[in-house]
Amino acid sequence: MKYRYDVEEHIDSKYVKKTKVKSLATGLIGAEMKVFLKNIVTTKGKPPEMVKVFKTTISPNGKAKRVEHKTMHYGVSHAVRNLFDENFQYVVDYNCNYYYACRMGSDCCDNDYCRCGRIENPTIISTDGFKSYVLNELIKISNLYKPVVDPDILAYCLERVIQYCADLTTDSFEISVRGGYYGEEVDSIKYQASRELIGFIIGVVEAPSSLDAVKMVLEMEYGFLLEESKDYEACEVHTVKRSSLVTPNEYRVKTLDKNYIKKYKEMDYDIPIGIYRKVNDKYEIIDGYHRFCAASKNKKNKVKLIVITKGA
Ligand SMILES: [Zn+2]
Repeated sequence: MKYRYDVEEHIDSKYVKKTKVKSLATGLIGAEMKVFLKNIVTTKGKPPEMVKVFKTTISPNGKAKRVEHKTMHYGVSHAVRNLFDENFQYVVDYNCNYYYACRMGSDCCDNDYCRCGRIENPTIISTDGFKSYVLNELIKISNLYKPVVDPDILAYCLERVIQYCADLTTDSFEISVRGGYYGEEVDSIKYQASRELIGFIIGVVEAPSSLDAVKMVLEMEYGFLLEESKDYEACEVHTVKRSSLVTPNEYRVKTLDKNYIKKYKEMDYDIPIGIYRKVNDKYEIIDGYHRFCAASKNKKNKVKLIVITKGA
């Protein structure tokens, strides 16, 4: 008994549209299909919304029977999950100690290259590269889906989601080791993304408006929205003079974590530094105190802001 799979793209439950995906997938078996489904793209270069996988069984007398096997949903969620499934070996910094039996008296490598190295206690040193890599990749992914949210605001929201929801500590990564021709080597470094992280990312990429995305990250960080948010009408990106930024909360400025300010200062993303409301000719801070202070230390004359406008 033999199996064969083929795949059809479904636009929604009513319309079945066969695309080039189908011919590409015909005749796959077992593991081949898994790899194919993971990387599937339509002729438009992005993952299909939904596919149905059909399984054809060929009996010994040569009769083929084709039945629906499973339905898979793609879209933003598929691409985001694929991203976190990657090997981050060359994105995070890590360190390995090697143990060589041949240097401890063993004759294992006599008259040959040393091939006995064993990796002991591989450790992650820094995950800073991970954050910027993931942010850049997420921006690329979202561009494929032509989001409604303004690109600068989307980048801002994605940065907030990664900062808030992604576990960026070194022990959230898992290093695996394999045998190579010259002793052990690092095979991969994997990251386990939480459901919360993936959920918020999809939420902001697919938000119905820029304001919805901004409200989503404010609520994510603070657990609630300010009373005044009922009057928020829209938000847009303004590039303004740094001297026009004001804070209604000097106490907050004095209690900021200096390490965070330093981190933001070193960050080199061209994304808005915070969320502001316009008061007369000034911009008053709502969120982003650390980035506000980092910007004033950066001595940049102009800064990019997300400015919320209120209804009458
Ligand atoms: Zn050796």
